[in-house]
Amino acid sequence: MNHRGATIDESARKIPVVHEADVVVVGAGPGGFAAALQAARMGARVVLVEEFDMPGGVHTSGLQGAAGPGVGGIHTELMERFAAGGHIYTVTESSLPGWAGNPLSHYERYLKPDATFTRQSFNPDGAGNVMSRMLHEAGVVALYGTAFVDAVVEPGVGNDSIKAIIVEGASGRQAIAGKIFIEGSGTGQLAAAAGVPYVPGGGGQPAGAAWDGVKRPIPGGLLWMMSGVDFAALRRHQKTTGDATLSKTIAEAVAARDIPAHLYRPRMNGRNVYGDLYIGHPTIDMSPMLADGTFILWQNAPYEWALRMDESADDEARARRELRALIEAEASFLRKYVPGFETSTLANVGRYVGVRDGRHPLGEHVFCLDDVLARRRFADAVTRPMTKSFFWDENRKHEFEVPFRCFLPRKINNLILTGASLSFTYETIFMVMRNFPWCTQTGEIAGFAAATCLRKGITPKELEWREPYF
Ligand SMILES: Cc1cc2nc3c(=O)[nH]c(=O)nc-3n(C[C@H](O)[C@H](O)[C@H](O)COP(=O)(O)OP(=O)(O)OC[C@H]3O[C@@H](n4cnc5c(N)ncnc54)[C@H](O)[C@@H]3O)c2cc1C
Repeated sequence: MNHRGATIDESARKIPVVHEADVVVVGAGPGGFAAALQAARMGARVVLVEEFDMPGGVHTSGLQGAAGPGVGGIHTELMERFAAGGHIYTVTESSLPGWAGNPLSHYERYLKPDATFTRQSFNPDGAGNVMSRMLHEAGVVALYGTAFVDAVVEPGVGNDSIKAIIVEGASGRQAIAGKIFIEGSGTGQLAAAAGVPYVPGGGGQPAGAAWDGVKRPIPGGLLWMMSGVDFAALRRHQKTTGDATLSKTIAEAVAARDIPAHLYRPRMNGRNVYGDLYIGHPTIDMSPMLADGTFILWQNAPYEWALRMDESADDEARARRELRALIEAEASFLRKYVPGFETSTLANVGRYVGVRDGRHPLGEHVFCLDDVLARRRFADAVTRPMTKSFFWDENRKHEFEVPFRCFLPRKINNLILTGASLSFTYETIFMVMRNFPWCTQTGEIAGFAAATCLRKGITPKELEWREPYF
């Protein structure tokens, strides 16, 4: 039955205001978490809403778990506290021989065989527990199992202001009022609900760059784990068959119709906006995680499905359903065909399909590739110059700065952006400025800005940012 086009009237109702906070944060990923923590540590009354059961976003609920080096501030503190809690797992070339240069390795495949490396990951649930405790210690009122559903906006002269957010949880529909709001949903949900203009996922791609002219978002992904893998046996199989990518084994399973068509998809010969990246996995894609014999695996949505999971419930449902089916098929294939996996077991699946290219809210400044190439300097830079290589010029490192105006969305006076929802063009945020350490830094900056504004009695747009925070 198709009810498209039909509507019903929702009756007006009074919603209880259950909290009146200084700072209200939507989403507890790296951005929202660090913003809430920093603002609370500076004395603000902070309420944070998170739909899952722990902070950390893609990195905990989404199982990502890659432990990056510290950059100072809350990110470094996190890594230290994960380590102190016994949640960091480390492998090197001597503990996992045959991993460097292995084509099955997500991160180390480009190393020379036997090269030295250190790969650290954290236990997502252990890390989530630590982050939850840190928020509690700082006095943040963290409402888990609570979904943000709407924003109540007061019109102003020029810009508007958010008065409250509407949330839904075990107590039903409730309102949380606040003075300053922080966008930490990873997909610009609060900004969009408040009326901030944004570029949708895939919408910023240069015309003609997509392989058939259709602008598709960079696919999201669902991460999952297998335990009980005998990597030494897998390595022996790779060596003795001379089939390091396992493409012969995959071909055998395809011939036997044991692999669905979308599981190991062919590379696109550069027809994707990101060359061959993110169209799926021609082979197995994994990384050591948690403990010996456990690996995290990537299951990205096929690029050609063009899913917009942040804006379409149908797309999100399809991603969850079909990626789980692909995971099930991959686990069965590995157990049946690949030595080393015979007695392995499906250990965990991320709580959600992470969105890589969702809404890009437009801020007072939109950070773009030209800012990097022109080595543009900003009086309101939030960090000292950073050095990174960008996708279209991978062989060169560029020094660049990010202005505070990227944290300030157009149209709304009392909202601060963080993490994957900063005002960046898709080509600067994807692959470069979406990483865990940077997203945590942006949250810390946002929390600092919010608490400073409260002390001064001004809005974030009135805050004169004079010196780098990091
Ligand atoms: C599949 C995938 C793999 C990645 N791999 C890496 C990697 O290897 N290394 C790396 O550094 N980065 C990686 N990234 C990028 C990085 O994870 C993200 O850019 C980063 O997590 C963004 O941080 P955030 O705080 O903005 O949002 P998120 O981490 O997405 O967190 C958003 C939080 O908001 C909550 N939320 C969302 N909507 C609502 C709502 N309506 N109500 C209440 N709560 C809500 C979510 O539950 C979540 O906890 C990856 C991303 C994806 C999707």
